Amino acid sequence: MSKGKIGVSTENIFPIIKKFLYSDHEIFLREIIANAMDASNKLKALASTGEYKGDVSNLKVSVAVDEKKKTITISDNGIGMTADEVEKYINQIAFSSAEEFVEKYKNQANSIIGHFGLGFYSAFMVSKKVELFTRSYKEGSKAVRWECDGSPEYIIEDTEKETIGTDVVLYLDDESADFATQSKVNELLKKYCKFLPVPIAFGKKKEWKDGKEVELAEDNIINNPTPAWTRKPSDLTHDDYMKFYRELYPMAEEPMFYIHLNVDYPFNLTGILYFPKIKNNIEISRNKIQLYCRQVFVTDSVEGIVPDFLTLLHGVIDSPDIPLNVSRSYLQSDQNVKKISSHITKKVADRLQELFNNQREDFEKKWDNLKLFINYGIITDEKFWERAEKFTLLKNVSDKYFTFEEYQKIIKENQTDKHGSLVYLYASDKEGQHSFIEAAQNKGYDVLVMDGQLDTHFINHVESKLKNSRFVRVDSDIADNLIQKEEAKEVKLTQQQKDMLSPVFKSVMPSNGQYYVSFEAMGENDMPAVITRNEWMRRMKDMSALGGGMNFYGEMPDNYNLIVNANHPLVNKVLQQTEEAKQAEIKETVEQITKLTAEREALMALHKDKKYDEIPQAERDKEAELDKKIDELEDKRNKVLEEYGKTNPLVSQIADLALLANNMLKGEALSRFVKRSIELIK
Ligand code: ADP
Repeated sequence: MSKGKIGVSTENIFPIIKKFLYSDHEIFLREIIANAMDASNKLKALASTGEYKGDVSNLKVSVAVDEKKKTITISDNGIGMTADEVEKYINQIAFSSAEEFVEKYKNQANSIIGHFGLGFYSAFMVSKKVELFTRSYKEGSKAVRWECDGSPEYIIEDTEKETIGTDVVLYLDDESADFATQSKVNELLKKYCKFLPVPIAFGKKKEWKDGKEVELAEDNIINNPTPAWTRKPSDLTHDDYMKFYRELYPMAEEPMFYIHLNVDYPFNLTGILYFPKIKNNIEISRNKIQLYCRQVFVTDSVEGIVPDFLTLLHGVIDSPDIPLNVSRSYLQSDQNVKKISSHITKKVADRLQELFNNQREDFEKKWDNLKLFINYGIITDEKFWERAEKFTLLKNVSDKYFTFEEYQKIIKENQTDKHGSLVYLYASDKEGQHSFIEAAQNKGYDVLVMDGQLDTHFINHVESKLKNSRFVRVDSDIADNLIQKEEAKEVKLTQQQKDMLSPVFKSVMPSNGQYYVSFEAMGENDMPAVITRNEWMRRMKDMSALGGGMNFYGEMPDNYNLIVNANHPLVNKVLQQTEEAKQAEIKETVEQITKLTAEREALMALHKDKKYDEIPQAERDKEAELDKKIDELEDKRNKVLEEYGKTNPLVSQIADLALLANNMLKGEALSRFVKRSIELIK
């Protein structure tokens, strides 16, 4: 037996390792098993060159737990080590690289991806003592026992071991004792080693016999050494891909389709990505893409490695060329990662294009489940939009699908406004906006459905990309004004008549929104009144609700336009009734308003070309006084008219019909409407 001191300069490296990655201690098992796997692969390589003459058909890694002694033993029948090699690889290389690693990353331990490649010394994160029994494949090698208790001192001595290979025994420290249970080790093996290329035996297979669980002679192999992504696509059937999906995510719904990635230049990358059915909201999906490095699980948080929108996909990526023991912030700037990320984006776009070209019908059927993913990609990834523009579908209210190019052809003639802009009309709620859709259709317009969670963002994005194109929601104006073609028809009401009707209608509108009353010359067969929402304001509010950062808009009250159809007989009836009921009462007030307004206008004409300073103070005061008086008089007039408006059932009925068409008549107001309707038709 001999004792030695490990060649590290920092005496306190072990405490540092222990503290390091507090949350990620569990990776020790993966690291030790990865070494065992390497040792097996090395022996296989030696056998293939004839340097090793023994049998390599039974290479495997065995894991055993002693719950009482709190030990975990990882055994391999791989290459093994001689005493000199233990000295060199374990005492020198392993520990000096440990020191280097800790030195380099101690301040950013938590941002390192998967803590991959920490190596042998990660055993000391959980162990108070580590023992190694190893015998080299080299002829005549003696078996060696090595032991280290976490201080820089170690013991090395000859021992007996019949077979070649290495056993690593971890004596867990008190804090980590919980790892030494069958169930915990099983969980870790399933997480990290499910697809390792060498069989991993964890105990024996068990079977239920006569109501009892009995152990069989056969090893319980916990991994699949040749997972689908490592095989040639030509050797795999559709069923194989689906089977593998279930291996990855046993509980998940069947995916829509998949892409097999297989690159060996300029970087190495294999993998299978699946398109899940993405429901109409962004759920932080539980089934994430898993990142492997030569079949060893690294992490399932691939942010920074693939573009954001691709994190909605499922599946596996395996690449030895992704730098893994670096911090995440470093990742984004790494050239290989950039290449890998854009390669995957390209492959995904290619696959979608291929499906679109070859299976259009099927693609359309899947569209509703794909849309969110593709929209997300378009909004966040410039490169993706360039490709996706060709296969992105627009769906209209009759459930027909079009590409941008196809749709532009259809609407070009009828939906180009007087400025030459192509107007895409859309509804965000097919049921709720039915009357608006119908009104637009009556004008021969086509209406799209844009009811997805990202549609507001998507529309903004597309507008910024497509030349001379605008999206307008059907309820943002009356049908005549959705696409402005020529000057609007003149309204035949006088200003005085408008001033009379405005407060009458305003008086019956709900108090939870702001309503601006205006008049339009619509057809006699159109609605007597329509409620619209300014496209731009509404979008700003929608964006702020989605967390677009525009809080200012989010806090504004909802603004609506109540557009009164000046040509409608019922509106004329209201005007007549109002005049009959209230004209006499407000006559004097109105005359005064007219007089003062004329005075005010005369003053304004006088001051038109003057700078503010040049106007005498007395005249300025006069102007202000007139303004105040006019305001007061208007208030007085409006009050009379508002009070009247509330008593006229026809006004309420017209307003409620407009609210109803927007799905805005609810609760008590709806009940009142129903009662009033019965009264009116009695
Ligand atoms: P790495 O595996 O990254 O080289 P490690 O610290 O994990 O670093 O291991 C250091 C070295 O110790 C390995 O390169 C290998 O030569 C040797 N080694 C570790 N575990 C085993 C094993 N189970 N069988 C044979 N050699 C091993």
